[in-house]
Amino acid sequence: MVRKEEPLQMRIGEAKQRDVGKKRARIGPEAMDFLKVTPGDIVEVMGSRTSCAVIWPVDEDEKFPDIIRVDGQTRKNVGASLNDIVKIRKVTSKIAKSVSLTPVNDTVTVDKEFTDFVKNRLKGLPITHGDEISVMILGNSMDFKITKTTPKGVVKIDRSTTLNISTETAVDRKVRVTYEEVGGLREKVKAMREIVELPLKHPELFARLGIEPHSGILLYGPPGCGKTLLAKVLASESEANMFPINGPEIMNKYYGETEAKLRDIFKEAKDNSPSIIFIDEIDAIAPKREEAYGDVEKRVVAQLLALMDGLNDRGNVIVLGATNRPDSVDPALRRPGRFDREFEISVPNEDGRIEILQIHTRGMPIDDDVDLKDLASELHGYTGADIKSLCREAAMKSIRRYLPEIDLETEKIPSEVLQSMKIKLIDFYDAMHE
Ligand code: ADP
Repeated sequence: MVRKEEPLQMRIGEAKQRDVGKKRARIGPEAMDFLKVTPGDIVEVMGSRTSCAVIWPVDEDEKFPDIIRVDGQTRKNVGASLNDIVKIRKVTSKIAKSVSLTPVNDTVTVDKEFTDFVKNRLKGLPITHGDEISVMILGNSMDFKITKTTPKGVVKIDRSTTLNISTETAVDRKVRVTYEEVGGLREKVKAMREIVELPLKHPELFARLGIEPHSGILLYGPPGCGKTLLAKVLASESEANMFPINGPEIMNKYYGETEAKLRDIFKEAKDNSPSIIFIDEIDAIAPKREEAYGDVEKRVVAQLLALMDGLNDRGNVIVLGATNRPDSVDPALRRPGRFDREFEISVPNEDGRIEILQIHTRGMPIDDDVDLKDLASELHGYTGADIKSLCREAAMKSIRRYLPEIDLETEKIPSEVLQSMKIKLIDFYDAMHE
């Protein structure tokens, strides 16, 4: 039958936390019937690149029958962003005889223990040449690029596979953060995506329709709640280059040259568009007139405004400003055509805290006695940054519990100990009550 070979067109959707890093593709029953697949089967997903994923059923509340939900890394691997159309077809995988990997942006000491650890983590996942995959190591993610597989095509790693990890490092300067790394800001992220992604990806639309895209967005709220993270995610998911500017730094370190420095950055951003210019602590550059407003500040603000006004015609450079003190920002900046959209990024509520806990414990060996929902209910007032450091601290506490089992004189920690380590509820409590 010809139909077996026929790919199905589907629209890319965001994955839930529990699927991140697992190469899952959730699709509905009609799509499964069409593709003649059942959960556990492997499909090839074709965007501007081709990769593969394991079929999983959609949740009961899924509203869109044409959606395929995959995580940010899979979206990168297939060269597609949210809402893009991809083609899908069933494939069979073979067991890999050998797989070669190169670490991305990280240097590693490759020995048998490390190779076994990575192999263990990747066991059973379908992979293809060119894929990037992450392995969580003590709460940090390490990325690898698959540079070769034998045989070719879609393969799975098992015990018999030989893994060759390169000691060379591949460098990738693009920011690499996905929407699934942001917790508790779903509605805001959705609204910001609509404003930012479309003009960055399709500036021609705006030119054709004769409308001006927003060139500036102001994010405000307390520190550590994800303003910088959001800017990185928006840049990364719209495949834009990010140009960060730190307000106090550009005012002080480049004193006397601040305007020239701003012009340089804007020019570079234009030359390398699509781009996002992220100005952190923008109140330092453009304070309100009442607040210490000297000639220097006046000139710098005027320069910033002129540069922003100069962006309006194209749309493929967007400026995101962040501040903890929105009331201290010069109102001239908040006029139409400048920072004319604003989003409050506030301290997360309980649901947000659950998501953020899931994000920052991903890949950590959490013991069964830890219920992240219960834990989240006790973290009132914690910001995203607080939760991140709590998770790290809990992991450190757990290591201390294992210290008596570890002979620090020997260089290596035995892999049985490493594999059996668990982070317990008591570790989180100890970390909370420091
Ligand atoms: P801000 O720019 O608002 O001061 P950041 O984005 O720099 O905050 O937050 C610091 C770190 O805290 C982030 O890199 C991230 O690891 C963590 N974090 C903050 N907010 C969130 C969030 N909403 N979801 C997940 N992690 C978060």
